[in-house]
Amino acid sequence: MNYPAYFDYNATTPVDPLVLDAMLPYFGPHFGNAASRTHVFGAKAEEAVDEARQQLADLLEANPKEVVFTSGATESINLALKGVWEASQYRGPNRQPGHIITVSTEHKAVLDTCEHLSQLGAEITYLQPASDGLITANQLEAAIKSNTVLVSVMAANNETGVLQPIQEIGEIAYKYNVLFHTDATQAIGKMSLSFANSAIDLLSLSGHKFYGPKGVGALLVRNGVRLSAQQDGGRHERGRRSGTLNVPGIIGMGEAAQLAQRHMLTEAKRIVTLRDQLEAGILANLANVSVNGSKQHRLPNTTNICFAGVDGELLLLLLNELAVSNGSACTSASTDPSHVLSAMGLSDDLAYSSVRFSLGRFTTEAEVEAAIRHVIAVVGKLC
Ligand SMILES: *Cc1c(COP(=O)(O)O)cnc(C)c1O
Repeated sequence: MNYPAYFDYNATTPVDPLVLDAMLPYFGPHFGNAASRTHVFGAKAEEAVDEARQQLADLLEANPKEVVFTSGATESINLALKGVWEASQYRGPNRQPGHIITVSTEHKAVLDTCEHLSQLGAEITYLQPASDGLITANQLEAAIKSNTVLVSVMAANNETGVLQPIQEIGEIAYKYNVLFHTDATQAIGKMSLSFANSAIDLLSLSGHKFYGPKGVGALLVRNGVRLSAQQDGGRHERGRRSGTLNVPGIIGMGEAAQLAQRHMLTEAKRIVTLRDQLEAGILANLANVSVNGSKQHRLPNTTNICFAGVDGELLLLLLNELAVSNGSACTSASTDPSHVLSAMGLSDDLAYSSVRFSLGRFTTEAEVEAAIRHVIAVVGKLC
């Protein structure tokens, strides 16, 4: 089979060959359990996990003690939101159920967790973004109440690449003594983020979005944050997340973090040039085509393009030389229009006619040029 060119890096990334090399010994001779304290097998695994923890902490300017390893961003988000809300419920009798503020364009991992908590009595406010996908600090400030316990706003949107003003959001949360969680899954490895120099209290991320393996992630938890564990067991990860560590996965994610730190700036420059070339090539040659979301506050690798008047399903089918997507991989089993584009005010038709192109480490200029030609040819046929 002739594989299509991959333009879906926001759904997942291939494991970098150097990441795979780093992981292999931990499936082989170094198979030990990182919690085994009585022999060299365990010691070897623990040492490697400590190094990976340091690598991840270095990338995000965090303290290694703030890193909690999980099975991915979905678990990290569940732990952050449920853990904070549950812990807040223990603060004395007659306390109102905790209030959480989030945004209607968040990933389903956040929205569905909030929905679950609302079933348990939590009060949830969903901020509505402007048509460019952005919320403002003022909007957030106006929504804070006396029982607000957590603000959860993503750093970068997976569908549009739009970057929320997380620095300002953190400052508002800090001012009102409310915890701030950010789903930074799409930002990791694409832009600099400093946990130390931010007002972020909890940060979720996932290995497979930055050239690490699938099924491993982390939650950064600022020292002193009260968080109820969601999994009981051997009190691994300082009691925050019980369960034997996924040693090879963690080693791989650590290596991926180190590669990101080394290459992020040059890589982002190269990718933004290719993304802009792709976007300009499509927009210059087709009518009724526009970019969804802020172009100014956006990840370097993502463009979400609306082909007005074109049947989106047919478009995806005919774009068979490209691996692209509409909406997020997690919701693409459903046939609803993208909740992100709908929240930004797009009609169902325009949301259905939109396609996300996301580029990455292994995207080439030749692939971009071929993609432009292919899109122009296919859309030209459909109009
Ligand atoms: C991929 C993604 C997730 C879920 O990550 P998993 O590790 O696959 O659970 C959450 N949030 C965003 C923004 C994502 O892109």
